Amino acid sequence: MTATTHPASNRLDFLKEEIQHLKDEHLYQTLKVFEGQQDAEITMDGRQILNFSSNNYLGLANHPKLIEASIKATQELGVGAGAVRTIIGTMRIHEALEEKLAQFKQCEATLVLQSGFTANMAAIPPIMGEGDVVISDQLNHASIIDAVRLTRGTTKDIFPHSDMNALESVLKKHKNARRKLIVTDGVFSMDGDIAKLPDIVSLAEKHNAIVMVDDAHGSGVLGSHGRGTVDHFGLHGQVDIVVGTMSKALGSMGGYVASTHAMREIMINKARPLLFSTPHPPAVVAACMAAIDLMAQDDALIQKLWYNTRYFKAGMKSIGLPIDSETPLCPVIVGTSEKAQKLSQRLLEEGIYGRAIVFPTVAADKARVRVIINACHTQSQLDRCIEAFEKIGKELNLLNG
Ligand code: PMP
Repeated sequence: MTATTHPASNRLDFLKEEIQHLKDEHLYQTLKVFEGQQDAEITMDGRQILNFSSNNYLGLANHPKLIEASIKATQELGVGAGAVRTIIGTMRIHEALEEKLAQFKQCEATLVLQSGFTANMAAIPPIMGEGDVVISDQLNHASIIDAVRLTRGTTKDIFPHSDMNALESVLKKHKNARRKLIVTDGVFSMDGDIAKLPDIVSLAEKHNAIVMVDDAHGSGVLGSHGRGTVDHFGLHGQVDIVVGTMSKALGSMGGYVASTHAMREIMINKARPLLFSTPHPPAVVAACMAAIDLMAQDDALIQKLWYNTRYFKAGMKSIGLPIDSETPLCPVIVGTSEKAQKLSQRLLEEGIYGRAIVFPTVAADKARVRVIINACHTQSQLDRCIEAFEKIGKELNLLNG
């Protein structure tokens, strides 16, 4: 079959100016395409590259057990759910995943959505309305920010990143609100630091606020067997709503809201991503279930992830590029977006893929290359990455001392 391309009108030409502007500001991004599986070593533009940008923390994206479960579910149940969940799209396997997740997260009930992004869209708008206030950490993920925008008649307030005195002031300012929701990332994706959850929980108790944590980067990384940030701090039962993703450490795709039976029921009735968008095909659901089984049985991969993280950070410190983070997310902050793009480009020339993160994802003067450590990196791959940083760090004058 030959594809036909019809000549385009010029009505979208105004976009070209905007693209040029992005290029001039060093903010222009392209999609990097790789061949084969998501792994520590990938093929990009015909070259072997070490992948230091993936959220495939535990290497589960191509684990044989997940692949096997996925194929089996496809053979038995087909490739599509066929309708949104409230019509006739809820297959037995969808509920089986939700039950397994609830057990794993040690909460009453969970609801699975298409992604972590849509899980935030499902969790926040149904429970916040006129007279309520959502209080959000300044560095929360875009999907939280967008979900808050979708609330109707709700006041929005922001506290400076992880500043507990400021959070308390904001709580006091809104003492007359009907309901208060404090929402925070569990692990902040750009800096790799962990939310001060024990303090947030005690402030919430004092000021009668609901607490919600988006644990996209904590799931599979923190806590016993990767149960997440709540488990890491021993706060089970004290955080009201946990959002997680299965698209990162769990290797496949999907988001969930872990909370109470009532929260699940309300979302089934009011959450627009559930009401108006079809759920996962069985292949994805089965892969997620296999990932949870693996994590529950054995934490060897999580131990490896943390071993690798400590090894990498020690190496970076020894070359004069200390990483200020508490998790496998390792930001190498260099300042301007131009510098970050240059560092990322040079790393790629040396066979290391570390993505530049620039404005508006991070502040304009805090552009960085973000290195993400996975359990599947070998020691020699970690060494090669550190050596590349040392070489380019000297060239670009980035090394301290
Ligand atoms: N929340 C946070 C904190 C995230 O980092 C991400 C992914 N970048 C998401 C939500 C969205 O998750 P997903 O990719 O599953 O949509």
